[in-house]
Amino acid sequence: MQSLSSDAVLAYIGLGSNLQNPSQQLHSARTAITALAYVKELAFSCLYQSLPMGPQDQPDYVNAVMAVATTLAPLELLRGLQGIENNHGRIRGQRWGARTLDLDILLYGDNSIALPDLIVPHSGITERAFVLYPLYEIAPQLTIPNKGKLIDLLANCPLAGLKKLDA
Ligand code: ATP
Ligand code: MG
Ligand code: MG
Repeated sequence: MQSLSSDAVLAYIGLGSNLQNPSQQLHSARTAITALAYVKELAFSCLYQSLPMGPQDQPDYVNAVMAVATTLAPLELLRGLQGIENNHGRIRGQRWGARTLDLDILLYGDNSIALPDLIVPHSGITERAFVLYPLYEIAPQLTIPNKGKLIDLLANCPLAGLKKLDA
């Protein structure tokens, strides 16, 4: 694997799936993300089960959070992740509808990004237990740009049915 230069950025990726063996989808996505050029895995949380957002007539989700070091620019990372979503059969239909794989950029260093295709920190980060709890597991000291300390955000975020899955 290629080495990363010292100007690599620490980014966090949220993974989610609720179709076609979700745990396996996340496992496969982890392998694919690690195989991206200029991306190196630093940490991967446990898997969590969560209730669906939006439409309720869909299966529960499996979620996890991954920390990576990358020298890709934010939009390059997004395109790489979208390619992996597509390779895992992601079909874009109803908003927050069932999907084989969702890969969201939660954080990209301490950058705030507001582009038409990319909002960072991710716009749902403060309200989503399935993001905050796995994130806390791998980065308990984290502060979210413009949002505050992760531990404080967690204290204000109900579990909403989130359960850690057995390893
Ligand atoms: P949500 O973003 O609320 O979790 P979603 O993940 O289901 O919803 P998608 O259909 O995966 O939404 O993506 C919709 C669009 O969101 C994408 O085309 C992408 O350009 C945009 N987007 C904006 N910010 C981000 C981000 N931080 N990570 C991933 N996609 C983002
Ligand atoms: Mg999402
Ligand atoms: Mg998404």
